[in-house]
Amino acid sequence: MRISTITNWAYATTVVLTLISGGAFIMAVRSADLERDAATTAWKLDETVEQLQSAAEKTTEDARLYVIKGEERYLNAFRAVDAVEREREQSVKRLVISNLTDQERTALQTVEADAEVLDAIEEQAVKDFAAGKQDVGRAAVFSPEHEEAQTDLMASVAHFTDLVDARGQEDLRSAKEKADLWGAIAKSLLAITALVFLSVLYFVLKRRVARPLHQMSGVVRRLAKQDYTVELLADGRRDEIGDMNDAIQIFRDNGLERDRLDAERRKDQQIKDLILQLMHRLQGCQDEAELAPVVARYAVQIFPELRGHLFVMNEGRTVLSAAGTWGAPRRSTTEFPSIQCWGLRRGRPHLSEVEHGDVPCQHLDETTKDGSLCMPLAAHGDTVGMLYFEGPDGGLELIAARVYIELIAENLGLAIANLQLRDRLANLAVKDPLTGLLNRRSLDENLNRLRREATDLPAALMMIDIDHFKHFNDDFGHDAGDFVMSQVAAIMMDVAGNHWAVHRFGGEEFAIVMLGTDQKEARSLAERLRSGIERAPITYLGRPLGTVTVSIGVASTQDGQPSTNLMQRADASLLRAKAGGRNVVITDWTTGDVERPAV
Ligand code: GH3
Ligand code: MG
Ligand code: MG
Repeated sequence: MRISTITNWAYATTVVLTLISGGAFIMAVRSADLERDAATTAWKLDETVEQLQSAAEKTTEDARLYVIKGEERYLNAFRAVDAVEREREQSVKRLVISNLTDQERTALQTVEADAEVLDAIEEQAVKDFAAGKQDVGRAAVFSPEHEEAQTDLMASVAHFTDLVDARGQEDLRSAKEKADLWGAIAKSLLAITALVFLSVLYFVLKRRVARPLHQMSGVVRRLAKQDYTVELLADGRRDEIGDMNDAIQIFRDNGLERDRLDAERRKDQQIKDLILQLMHRLQGCQDEAELAPVVARYAVQIFPELRGHLFVMNEGRTVLSAAGTWGAPRRSTTEFPSIQCWGLRRGRPHLSEVEHGDVPCQHLDETTKDGSLCMPLAAHGDTVGMLYFEGPDGGLELIAARVYIELIAENLGLAIANLQLRDRLANLAVKDPLTGLLNRRSLDENLNRLRREATDLPAALMMIDIDHFKHFNDDFGHDAGDFVMSQVAAIMMDVAGNHWAVHRFGGEEFAIVMLGTDQKEARSLAERLRSGIERAPITYLGRPLGTVTVSIGVASTQDGQPSTNLMQRADASLLRAKAGGRNVVITDWTTGDVERPAV
C-alpha cells in the first residue's frame, strides 16, 4: 500500500476518532448539566414546599392572634399571608407539574388538600370571630380538628419532601453515572486516537520509511562504488519507496549490463590483441615447420577451454596430418584422408556435435560428446590445411569462438600459402626442376663461399657424368632420358644427399661439394655412388633401360692444393675417367693409369 494511502487513511481515522471523542465529551458535559439541573430542581421543590409549610404556620399564628386579641392588623396579616400561600401553591404547581412522578403528584395533592383543610378551619374561625361569635372562632383554631389538620399538613409536606429528595438523589446518581460513563468513553477514544496516531507515525516513519531508506542508502552507496552485485529490497512494495527501489533496480541492472558488456568488450579486445600477435608471429615464420608451434602456443591462450590440432595437407592434397597440437585433443585422429572431413569437402567451417550439430566427420570419434569444429585453411583458391578445435558443452564454446577461429584461419591459410609460395620460388631459384637437385647457380655460390671462407678443413669436389647418355635419348626417347636423369639424381641424393650438397651442373653432368672430407672418404663415397648407380635396375614404363653407369672425377684440397681451381681439377679428373673407358672414379691426387674397379 502506498504511503500516501496509509497517511490518508490514518488521517481520516484520526479525524473520525477525534470527532467521536469530542461527541463523548459533549455528552459527558450534558450529563453533568443534567446532574446540576436535577439538584437545582430538588432544591427548589424543597424550598418552595418548606415556604408553603412556613406560610401555613404563619396564617395559623395570625388567625390565632386575631381570635385572641381581636386586633384588625392580625386579620390583615392573616389575609396577606394566605394570599402569599396560595400564590406559592400555584408556583409549586407550575414548577413541578411536568417533572413529578405519579407518587409525588399524589403527595403534593395531599399537601394541597391538607393545607386547604387547615385553611378552611382558620377561615371559618376568622369569619365566626368577625361575626361576633368569638368563642366559636377561638375554639375552632385551638380545636383538635385544627391540631389534626396542622399535623396532617406537616406530615404530608414531610412525605412530599422525602419523595422529592429521594428522587433528586436518584436523578443525581443517574446523571453522575452517565457523566462518568461519557467521560470515560471520551478519554478512552482520545487515548485510542493518540495510540492510532503514534502507531501510524511509528509504522510509516520507522517501518515503512526510515528502515527501507536506511537500507536503500546502503545500496546507493555501494552502487556509487560500482558494486552492482548489491541486493536490493525484495518486499515487492508498491509505494513511493518501492518506486525509488524500482528506479535503483533499473540503475543497477543497467550497471550490471554495462559491466557485462565491458567484460565482453575487454575479453574481445584481449582475444583480438592475441590474434594480432599471432598474425605478426605467423608473418615472421620462415618455413611451415615454424607455424605449428606458434599456432599451438597462441591457441591455448586465446581459447583456454578448447583443444585442437593444426593439420597440414600433403603435397598431393590427399592426406592431412597434425603438424601442431594443443590441449590434448581426443576426438580426432592425427592423420586422415582429406575426404573424411566434411569441412574440407565443402570448403566451409563444419561443426560436428553429437546432439545438435551437423553430420559428424569420419575422422572423429563419435563416442565422445564434445563438439568439434573443422575450419579449412585456404588461400589463393587452394586448401592448404585445416584448423581443428574441440571443446566441452556440446559445442557452445566453439560457437562463441567461431568468429575468432575464422579470423585466425583466414590469416593462417594465407601464411601457409605464402610460405609454400616462397618455398617454391626459392626452389626455382636454387633447384633444378627436373631432378630436384641444387642448380648450377647454387654450385657456383657454394664454391665461391668455399674459396672465401679459408678453412683448415679439407674439401673435395666430385664431378659426375652419365656415360653415353645420348643413347637413352636416342633409343628410348627424351622422356626416358629425363627419367634416367631423375633416377640417377635420386640415387645420388640417397647416397650423399644427407651430408653433402648435390648439384646438377648441366646436361647429364652433376657435382657434389664435400666440405670437411678427406681424400679417402671422398674417394670411398665416389665409389659407392658409381657402383650404386651401376647396380640400380632402371625400368621406364615397364621397359628395362639397361645398365646406367657414370664416370666420376674427384679433386681435393687436402695436400695443400688450392680451392680456387678445384673445379678445373675435378673436371680434368672426369675427362681422364672418360678417356680411361668410363664407369670409373679418378682422383686428382693419384697419377698414372686408371684403376679399373674390381667387378
Ligand atoms: P659421354 O659418355 O661421352 O658423356 O657420352 P654422352 O652421350 O653422355 O655425352 P654427350 O655430350 O654426347 O651427350 C649428352 C646428351 O645429353 C646431349 C643432350 O641431348 C642430352 N641431354 C642434355 N640435357 C638433357 C636433358 O635434360 N634431358 C635429356 N633427355 N637429354 C639431355
Ligand atoms: Mg655423358
Ligand atoms: Mg656430358
